[in-house]
Amino acid sequence: MKFTELDLQPQLLSGLEAMGYEEMTPIQEKAIPHVLAGRDILGLAETGSGKTAACGVPLVQLSDPDLNAIQALILVPTRELALQYVQELDDIAKQTKIVPFAVFGGFDMSIQKAKLRHRVNILVATPGRLIDFLWNTDLDLTNVRAVVLDEADEMLKMGFIEDIDFILSCLVHEHRTLLFSATMPGEIDRLTKTYLQDPVRVELNKDQIAPQSLAHHFLHTGRNRLQVLKEYMEEEEIRQALLFCNSRDKAADLYKELQRGVKSVECIHGGLDQDRRTSLFNRFRGEKIKFMVATDVASRGLDFSRVTHVINYDFPFNSEIYTHRTGRAGRMGRRGIALTLVGDRDLGQLGTILKDNRIDPVWLGPEPDLSGGGRSRGGERGRGGRGGGGGGGGRNGRPRKGGSSGGGGGEAAGATNGSGSGRGRRRRGRRGRGGGGNGGGEKAPAAPGSG
Ligand code: AMP
Repeated sequence: MKFTELDLQPQLLSGLEAMGYEEMTPIQEKAIPHVLAGRDILGLAETGSGKTAACGVPLVQLSDPDLNAIQALILVPTRELALQYVQELDDIAKQTKIVPFAVFGGFDMSIQKAKLRHRVNILVATPGRLIDFLWNTDLDLTNVRAVVLDEADEMLKMGFIEDIDFILSCLVHEHRTLLFSATMPGEIDRLTKTYLQDPVRVELNKDQIAPQSLAHHFLHTGRNRLQVLKEYMEEEEIRQALLFCNSRDKAADLYKELQRGVKSVECIHGGLDQDRRTSLFNRFRGEKIKFMVATDVASRGLDFSRVTHVINYDFPFNSEIYTHRTGRAGRMGRRGIALTLVGDRDLGQLGTILKDNRIDPVWLGPEPDLSGGGRSRGGERGRGGRGGGGGGGGRNGRPRKGGSSGGGGGEAAGATNGSGSGRGRRRRGRRGRGGGGNGGGEKAPAAPGSG
């Protein structure tokens, strides 16, 4: 369904056109008409689905340009998400008179206060900072007619639940509430029952959990995981990649190693101060950085839509983490590759991840025996694994650097999992302890109330 089929104001439609948004994504198609009709929404969806515009478009449409007051409030767990949200709202509302603005911790409150005094119609906020404003300024929320809780489960994990209860209890006037969450833990269910009235449940088809445009590649590594990674980075045609590690220390170690030979590499993790994280985030989004080493916390929920490759250098702890990491590539139907380096000790967990995400893996090099024991099946050096059939064609039909001359022309990021690359160029597959990655996870970056 096209945006033009909705009864939207012309300025809003031309803003969407300028953004290149013509067709609605499934979540937009399911949610927008209901929001326009005044219903509450319970959305089970993640970033990458187009949920920002699913809220942003109706919120801009419903705001009164002649009323200089905050009319919509959006709560998000992190500063990066606040920035991302407000950037999208800015684009959507560009040709209208509606002014979006974001407040978050770690930034001078007096500047934010001045802007709020001047004119803001849609406010994006982290819970902690919003509460600072509610306590210490005369911030007026009496005209709020729509509230969005984005990444509600993430806000819960970060300890924001009391803040959210407090904020919602301050909104005494009638309004619609839109709650988005990737999962539905008990506390979020309670929030839903307390604050949403007869919500329309909008759920993305389970099959969309692992994006169809993503090819899931695996490489069984031995002890020399770093060398395997470096070779891959050299040989593969990568436009932009996120490399995941399981802890800050591991990320810092990998970053140090890569800095020795790789150009344009940076590292983002929750231990960095907010300014540094924001600057890295913006430079990566602007494609000024090619390789970003990251921990899960630093990247969760963020939309890096140009990322072509997600590399699990450390093996993800569970299926949920695998989904979140790999969901950073192959977004909005663009093609992407998720490469996971697998050590012997990861093989048990790998079986679960493949099953949970219904992944048909493409093995670069020998395919290990997943039935137990961790042996590589076949053991033939350089065997292409499931993608079978000759190397050659890289993404978009370009030959890979180092691709073999075999036929096939496999589109590495083929539309269906396992359709693929079959390059047989990978000559590792040594058995060994490799992978590992069971180090301590990173702690959530923001303490409750810090925004
Ligand atoms: P989100 O899930 O809101 O983070 O959106 C993921 C990506 O999809 C962002 O890069 C958006 O700019 C893009 N996007 C959202 N809606 C549309 C649409 N209808 N058409 C094209 N791109 C979209």
